[in-house]
Amino acid sequence: MNASSQAALPKRLRHFVDGDFADSDQTFANISPVDGSELSRVAEADMRIVDAAVRAAKRAQRGPWGQLSAQARADWLHKIADGIQVRFDDFVAAEVADTGRPVSQARSLDVARGIANFRTFADLVRTSHSEFFETSTSDGREFINYVTRKPLGVVGVISPWNLPLLLFSWKVAPALAMGNCVVAKPSEETPTSATLLAEVMRDIGLPAGVFNLIHGHGANAAGEWLTRHADIDAITFTGESKTGSAIMKAVADGVKNVSFELGGKNAAVVFADADFDQAVEGVLRSSFTNAGQVCLCSERVYVERPIFERFVAALKEKTEALEVGSPYEPGTTTGPMISQQHRDKVLSYFKLAVAEGATVVTGGGVPAFGDANDNGAFVEPTIWTGLPDDARCVTEEIFGPVCHVAPFDAEDEVVRRVNDSAYGLAASVWTSNLQRGHRVARQIETGIVWLNAWFERDLRTPFGGTKLSGFGREGGRHSMDFYSELTNVCVRIA
Ligand code: NAD
Repeated sequence: MNASSQAALPKRLRHFVDGDFADSDQTFANISPVDGSELSRVAEADMRIVDAAVRAAKRAQRGPWGQLSAQARADWLHKIADGIQVRFDDFVAAEVADTGRPVSQARSLDVARGIANFRTFADLVRTSHSEFFETSTSDGREFINYVTRKPLGVVGVISPWNLPLLLFSWKVAPALAMGNCVVAKPSEETPTSATLLAEVMRDIGLPAGVFNLIHGHGANAAGEWLTRHADIDAITFTGESKTGSAIMKAVADGVKNVSFELGGKNAAVVFADADFDQAVEGVLRSSFTNAGQVCLCSERVYVERPIFERFVAALKEKTEALEVGSPYEPGTTTGPMISQQHRDKVLSYFKLAVAEGATVVTGGGVPAFGDANDNGAFVEPTIWTGLPDDARCVTEEIFGPVCHVAPFDAEDEVVRRVNDSAYGLAASVWTSNLQRGHRVARQIETGIVWLNAWFERDLRTPFGGTKLSGFGREGGRHSMDFYSELTNVCVRIA
């Protein structure tokens, strides 16, 4: 794939409401983070479009979609997955153009997971079973109790830019599988793959109103208006913790159901008994995958003191071997920040780290290319040491290719330091001591702990965070629980 692959992508991105594409007079630019060029103009939804989308979703949910069997809905989800598969290269081009990530990542992670999300929830809903209890009372009466699931109604999906199709479909797929209709808003930074998904929905003939797409910004714009709409029954959101807080306030009056997957300040813990090479490779991936723009990336690394110096040296060497640059150049491993604005935020932390007393082991600046990529949003992969645990660079989410490495001396000490965080999303632990691995994993206050692994996801398992990282769990039956209402039917049989 090269830059010319972008040519196939739409230059005008529109909403998809009630089965048709709809435009707006007001538009905004979708800017390439690779070279600052304008990729497309995007329609900005006004309140009227948001309202039309929610009404269409409500009609469809009360009409054809709400009447379908779980089997029929599962068949539709497989058709959506097939439709993405047919246009696999277009989706890859969209993700690469909007985010600047390497083509290999877009192929193996983003688009592959987009397809897997639809197939997984299709199969889960098709094979799901209900709870059933036989109940007898002390005076001899007998009952059976069973549980049925009903859709919530209209679900508002609001997603971020860092894994556009993956995170968008992670919520759209289970919502549809459980019989809801959706109004979905992708991030204003990455609107293209969601638009291609709307084309797939249209091309496979999904009933009008089942899936609606609105483009636009968040606060005081399409995102906020969606959360405040009276006919939305639930909001599922992935993004920053402070946005989650704003959405919580917006939905409070309507007492709407919410599911939040928010920010993180994740730790990696490397014990001296770990397989050294595997741990270095694992921390390299967990710190720098997607240029550090994965909510699960580790920005805090704790290494047991006997191997600390050796570990930092090995991580430095591998980090300096990363190839930062355009995704259209062969060999690139690390793309840009999503935008100039986000690059400014990351660079402000690079500056702050020095002011807080960090030793910059590598990076800390902006790479120079001598071509159009100098207009892109690139930063150097960066490693710091020497900061205290309460430094802002060690406590606040940066969301860039950066980690701080600190030594530790004892197991209970490192568990305490890992848990001493406002966030609780993910952690990874590297050790060859089985008992210690399990013992430490159970004590860490995060939604997921990887042992000698990172970023592996079985979509049937619960996913989510504690503290500022959100609440509720999605994945497998946890998604089915969030996207449906349970009714207990109690029947007297004797
Ligand atoms: P963001 O919160 O700025 O934006 C996310 C979405 O919310 C966008 O679509 C945006 O338009 C919308 N939005 C913004 N303000 C809104 C408001 N007031 N009302 C309604 N919608 C609003 O997040 P981002 O910068 O796009 O994404 C990066 C963040 O997402 C990081 O904090 C990262 O850790 C987090 N994240 C978490 C997970 C997870 O699973 N926990 C996964 C990926 C990303």
